[in-house]
Amino acid sequence: MTVDIAARLAEVMPGLRRDLEDLVRIQSVSADPARAGEVERSAEATRDLFAAEGFDAEIVRAHDGAPPAVIASKAGPEGAPTVLLYAHHDVQPENDHADWDSPPWEPTERGDRLYGRGAADDKAGIAAHLGAVRIFGDELPVNLVMFIEGEEEVGSDTLVDLLEAHKDRLAADVIVIADSGNWDIGEPALTTSLRGLVRMDVEVRTLTHAVHSGMWGGLVPDSIMTLSRLIATLNDDAGNVAVEGLVSGRAADVEYPEARLRAESGAAEGIEWIGDGPIVERLWTKPSISITGLDAPKVEGASNTLVPSARCRISMRIAPGDTTANAVQRLQAHLEKHVAWGATLTTTVVDTGEATQIDASGPAYDAARAAFAEAWDGTEPVDMGVGGSIPFIAEFLEAFPQASVLVTGVEDPDTRAHGANEGLHLAEFEKVVKAEAFLLRNLGALPR
Ligand SMILES: [Zn+2]
Repeated sequence: MTVDIAARLAEVMPGLRRDLEDLVRIQSVSADPARAGEVERSAEATRDLFAAEGFDAEIVRAHDGAPPAVIASKAGPEGAPTVLLYAHHDVQPENDHADWDSPPWEPTERGDRLYGRGAADDKAGIAAHLGAVRIFGDELPVNLVMFIEGEEEVGSDTLVDLLEAHKDRLAADVIVIADSGNWDIGEPALTTSLRGLVRMDVEVRTLTHAVHSGMWGGLVPDSIMTLSRLIATLNDDAGNVAVEGLVSGRAADVEYPEARLRAESGAAEGIEWIGDGPIVERLWTKPSISITGLDAPKVEGASNTLVPSARCRISMRIAPGDTTANAVQRLQAHLEKHVAWGATLTTTVVDTGEATQIDASGPAYDAARAAFAEAWDGTEPVDMGVGGSIPFIAEFLEAFPQASVLVTGVEDPDTRAHGANEGLHLAEFEKVVKAEAFLLRNLGALPR
């Protein structure tokens, strides 16, 4: 007896929507110690949702006081492949409530979307897995194991330990990471490349103490001018990263229409794009450098003083195929070579995350592409890159080198994950659930 996925989908959606809304009402902000109890509550709610579907579900943590993750498993047919479904139950801070058009913790439908913090990232990822599970009930086509972590938004510090400690239970043939998105409404995608991240603090010192700018200006360089010159060397005139020895790659042949780019990027009127080459390569497969913080005296109250030291934070995205070790070394060498006027340079690596390139070929990827095309009425998924990093994907690839890792998700270009008015496109979400059910069915049908 095969499950009629389309019919079951219609039956499960209303309840799924209610359960998603209940999850959104839990303020599971992992970055806020005052709301640690809410993160516990969201773990419990997640565990209970899967336990109610007949899963052997438990809360696990790497050590006492570590954030709670949920592991839940349910057996399918003897000899069927095992599929690990990943999502995370913690969310980003909601920040200023005044920026939201409806309360961030009260899921609210407006237009095509359900708004609320976590309505997409990533409680809808949990809900998508739950929906697929409910569609099949006790007729699962594969063995399933859920891994829903509670610290993704704060860097997944204990993820490696959890994967190691529960390696046997989490071992899978296919891993579905539902924490990315689709290319556009009506255009599904598999995320196959992600840039890595190197953050480095750079301090430049030109004086042992502040001195009068009238007495010494013209002879002694000030640190802000010196740091500014150094920052200016990081890009060439076109805006390409000028640090030598970094890796660049090619991206899939995907068009990013100018109008959409203007609307989505937040670029102010008249702003020119920086860098050379296809748009998606500049965003996905070439390095970028941004300055995300600057320590210097405030303009208001600035005195006639040569400032002895100034500091900035460099946020460098590195292309798939590069390594953070290489990038750190190349950046440091560049800074040392270009710092002007004999200033003292101090660099500190803040954190790093490796880039990921997934070899999206083989039966699991074929099964996924067929499932997506079926759910989106014949529209084939595109291989999408993501400019940002999801460092834990590299950790899954390393912990389970035999597994096929599929990166999917519920987001679309207007989801505003991490921002105010985060919203889930409801019609698209239904397709995501349907696609995941098709995927599980297709994986269950692969030759053993
Ligand atoms: Zn997420």
